Amino acid sequence: MPDVFADLVGQDEAVDTLRRAAASAAAVLRAAHAPAPAADDPDGYADEVDGDGPAVDPGAGMTHAWIFTGPPGSGRSVAARAFAAALQCAYGTGCGECPGCHTTMTGTHADVRLVVPEGLSIGVGEMRALVLRAASTPSGGRWQIVIIEDADRLTEAAGNALLKAVEEPPPRTVFLLCAPSTHPDDVSVTIRSRCRVVPLRQPPAGAVAEVLVRRDGIAPDVAQWAAAAAQGHVGRARRLARDPEARQRRDAVLAVPRRLTGVGTALDAASALIEAAEAEAEASVAEADAAERAALQTALGAGGTGRGAAGAMRGAAGQLKDLEKRQKSRATRAQRDALDRALVDLAGFYRDALTMALRAPVAPVHTDTAAMAEAGAQKWAAEGALRRLEAVLECRTAIEANVKPRIAVEAMMLTLWKG
Ligand SMILES: [Zn+2]
Repeated sequence: MPDVFADLVGQDEAVDTLRRAAASAAAVLRAAHAPAPAADDPDGYADEVDGDGPAVDPGAGMTHAWIFTGPPGSGRSVAARAFAAALQCAYGTGCGECPGCHTTMTGTHADVRLVVPEGLSIGVGEMRALVLRAASTPSGGRWQIVIIEDADRLTEAAGNALLKAVEEPPPRTVFLLCAPSTHPDDVSVTIRSRCRVVPLRQPPAGAVAEVLVRRDGIAPDVAQWAAAAAQGHVGRARRLARDPEARQRRDAVLAVPRRLTGVGTALDAASALIEAAEAEAEASVAEADAAERAALQTALGAGGTGRGAAGAMRGAAGQLKDLEKRQKSRATRAQRDALDRALVDLAGFYRDALTMALRAPVAPVHTDTAAMAEAGAQKWAAEGALRRLEAVLECRTAIEANVKPRIAVEAMMLTLWKG
């Protein structure tokens, strides 16, 4: 039986850090269950952990706030969840078999809360409620753990609410944040200064293929193709290997370069790319939207006609409006994510054309469009391929900076056509 860190692909260094911290955390708990803590130790942490006593080896120890950084798909949230499981593990190792490990990994542990922002940002109300609950005594006797995926999407006010908790942590509470980097745009400097950082790397394609074969039972040749095409993004590789619709969407994106024969086709290609992203996003959120609306209507339908019903109805209108707002913001984010995936695929194609033009001895990202990339390399030479690659990357940056997607994509398509 593999332990909880088995799915953390190609991250040996980070896994080593987390294993040592989990062992140190288990020692903290053992010490707490031993005779009462010394009077000069105000928070129950072992002295070497929080520095209110003689420091032993703070680098190896447990601490109450962590940031997992790395490119999308490198496994930030996988790492955070595995670490949470190791902290809740009855053996303090993340054995993968005990109830603590099992319930954490399946998302049902009472003392592990996972925050996945559904809109474009995590609001202050949500964060305050979370911080309050995180301060309660862990019911399982170990740790209260809060995992915040996409901590870069905290609003400033939510960040401040979190900062307060991180600055004065309840003795048994652990915050695990996930963010692309520790750049101040992603995580505020003050929060960063209170956290230990666990950097994750983009896993090599070979390691991604290996996990697809071992864990998901995917055929080795399909796994290798998908791992390369996904450019180190583990979840994307799995989707490409398993989901025919994901493969079709990718095929449609990679057909763009050979369709660009004039201004008209460039603008058509832009429309097609945007509309495909919208359709994909709509499909991905439709089910959740309908379920949420039904649940809310059921809850509101039970309002009754007694005293207080009028007030309840006024509250209901507000709740419905809130729900619509949240759903709209989730749809916007799903569209951006879908469009960004398409742009990453497209960038991979022009990167292949560039490396071929340079005769660089590296494997292509998209083996199935290698012939087309080679033809592009001949036609454009390295300089033309580079200009096109830059156009795709600029489009991503522009959308990130809130330029309207259609405008950014149209500009990109025109450059991809003209060079
Ligand atoms: Zn365990």
